[in-house]
Amino acid sequence: MEYKKNALLCLEKRRNWIYSLGESLFACPELGFKEYKTNRIICAALEELEIPFQNDVALTGIRATLGSGSYHIALVTDMDAVDVGGRPFHSCGHSIQSAVMLGVLAALKETGIVDELGGKVSFIAAPAEEYIDLDYRLGLIREGKIRYPSGKQNMIYCGLFDSVDCGISVHVSGDEKYRFDVGSTLTGFTIKKVTFHGRAAHSGAAPHLGKNALHGAVLSMDALAFLAARFAPEAGVRIHPVIKDSGMSMNVIPETVILESYVRANTREAMFEARERFDACVRHCAEALDLTASVETRSGYLPLCQSETLCGAVYRNMLEICSGESIAGHVASGASGDMGDLGFLIPCVQFGFSGIQGRIHSDSFTIADPEHVYMDTARVALKTVIDILADPQLRVRNGEYEKDKAFYINEWLSGEGS
Ligand SMILES: [Zn+2]
Ligand SMILES: [Zn+2]
Repeated sequence: MEYKKNALLCLEKRRNWIYSLGESLFACPELGFKEYKTNRIICAALEELEIPFQNDVALTGIRATLGSGSYHIALVTDMDAVDVGGRPFHSCGHSIQSAVMLGVLAALKETGIVDELGGKVSFIAAPAEEYIDLDYRLGLIREGKIRYPSGKQNMIYCGLFDSVDCGISVHVSGDEKYRFDVGSTLTGFTIKKVTFHGRAAHSGAAPHLGKNALHGAVLSMDALAFLAARFAPEAGVRIHPVIKDSGMSMNVIPETVILESYVRANTREAMFEARERFDACVRHCAEALDLTASVETRSGYLPLCQSETLCGAVYRNMLEICSGESIAGHVASGASGDMGDLGFLIPCVQFGFSGIQGRIHSDSFTIADPEHVYMDTARVALKTVIDILADPQLRVRNGEYEKDKAFYINEWLSGEGS
């Protein structure tokens, strides 16, 4: 296809620009909602490309749009770094994502393809993907600067994706046996905090006058292990309770005990069911022992379930770069990400690339193969955008977006807001 040939030539000419953007971003790691230097680097690149953009979305995020056609593709990138031993470090590869997608955007702009094919493409840089540094983020929520702890959650809430039909993102895969991976799942998680309440008494002289809150927590831990066993292995339901902040003393029957737990799952159905049954387990265990249990729920991220149609398009473009044996497919990852939330609302693909040395989320992380990391990844993303714009079969949409967004905000994220 002539379109692809021209676009790939433009991308090739941007090689040094992309590398240097990637290096600049890698050199200024910042934690979520503090990505001010990162923001400036990305804005400067957009100014250079003369692409108009909307800045300070969800505090430090950016959206730049090309074209005015009817089908709208978002190139979604993360901006934040990981906290490694008390200092920010770009060891989740988020610095790479913006360099790659800005390269794709530059090639699309220079060829004028987006308007020619009747489409619209937005580059969306989202803050705060890593679910960390929560005290700072809860402070921002209290100040009214954000509403939810992650960048994409806030962007979804403020309607940034309302006109978007599908999303494409890239992420370092961490498995150097493969060149790429496609169609992998990310685990979803919910955080539960349960407060068991009983009655204090002398543990030697009159224990029968007390109501031991710890017994409620212990009974619940068994019940929660049995609950996890009720789900099929592929649902990936894992529940890891820990007992915290009891303030217990050996001569007092514990009056209050706090149990916290992650509830993880690989599918949305299992996620919704497990977090509901969790509450039933702890409430009934408490009731059986004449205790009370109150549950606070903090929604983390939804499991990422990718669009098979978009994964197919990505896979075909990967095959022009390497063999099928070099591409991992449908790996169940134990990691989580807020692309899971976006993938609940619009068809999404997030494909993985290798070319890294050292471990992800550690300070041993380095980029070993820039040609593959930046250029091959950008080629696959660019060709996929062109395929989607050129082929009506690939223009997938979520016809239930409004309904799903209402559920997402009112049911899934409820209790999160300020
Ligand atoms: Zn990460
Ligand atoms: Zn990441």
